Amino acid sequence: MNTGKPPISIVLPIYNEEKNIPVLYERLHKVLSANFQDYEVVFINDGSSDNTLTFLKSICEKDKHFKYISFSRNFGHQTALLAGLHHAKGDAVLSMDSDLQDPPELIPVMYNKLKEGYDMVYAKRAERKGETFFKKFTAKIFYRLLKSLSNIDIPLDTGDFRIMSRKMLNAFNSMKERNLYIRGQMAWLGFRTTYILYDRDPRYSGETKYTLKKMIKLAINGITGFSSFPLQIASFFGMMFSMVAFLFMLKIIYSKIFEPENLVSGWASIMVSVMFIGGVQLLCIGIIGEYINKIINEVKERPFYIIDETNIQ
Ligand code: UDP
Ligand code: MG
Repeated sequence: MNTGKPPISIVLPIYNEEKNIPVLYERLHKVLSANFQDYEVVFINDGSSDNTLTFLKSICEKDKHFKYISFSRNFGHQTALLAGLHHAKGDAVLSMDSDLQDPPELIPVMYNKLKEGYDMVYAKRAERKGETFFKKFTAKIFYRLLKSLSNIDIPLDTGDFRIMSRKMLNAFNSMKERNLYIRGQMAWLGFRTTYILYDRDPRYSGETKYTLKKMIKLAINGITGFSSFPLQIASFFGMMFSMVAFLFMLKIIYSKIFEPENLVSGWASIMVSVMFIGGVQLLCIGIIGEYINKIINEVKERPFYIIDETNIQ
């Protein structure tokens, strides 16, 4: 029954979500069996250290629509999502979070929208319930910053809750980059895209698995992957300081000729400018370092992820 191509695959990265699994399973099972003849659910266990894998295995035992891929360690949400997209066999493929912030009941709504003739439908967050002010504020600033820096149209306030056609997924799977920012890569692909609005629910159980460090990494991948503007900052500062230095030189020449009595050399102004310019140079080197780091990651050509076990043939 579950061989061949189901009309829809659901891809769910999952990391230490044991308390969410029973409800998640219930809600997925209910909505999917009511709306689809056949379907496939692919969980990607991203190196969980709790009982997530055991729970997933027991679900897969009793329900053949459910499959799992288990990583050898924690590779991060974007990589887990990537593995799911690589392995999904469905004609349409939907990705969502496993903490029930993305309501499974929206799956048929998104599927129907896709079938109106789109290649991707993403779910845009109208409201984000139960998330900290810090998270919402930084996310809002980041999405707008990225939009103004990049030359492709990355939709605002969306995560990785989306459904796409097989055509779009095949195009995505041909992308070979390792510094993942999947929502940007999707926008880069183009195709006919639309969105639905939804209220993002609070997490069902547990704490966010996106630590500040992981959020910063994602943000840097987004910016370095889709904008070269930061690299141009160095040239901008360089030009600005050359101009200031030139004007300063004119002033010194003027003083030397017309008002030599005013030409008292103070070390404070020298120190300030030396330190300031030094700081700017370090900043620019840091930015270049960030891009070089990304280049190193790409040229190493390591596998994207390591699968420890799976029940997908
Ligand atoms: N996740 C993952 N690997 C990670 C971090 C998170 O697979 O290293 C999963 C997590 O289990 C959830 C989804 O990615 O299904 C989104 O994570 P989370 O809900 O913690 O992020 P938030 O909603 O707070 O941004
Ligand atoms: Mg969440």
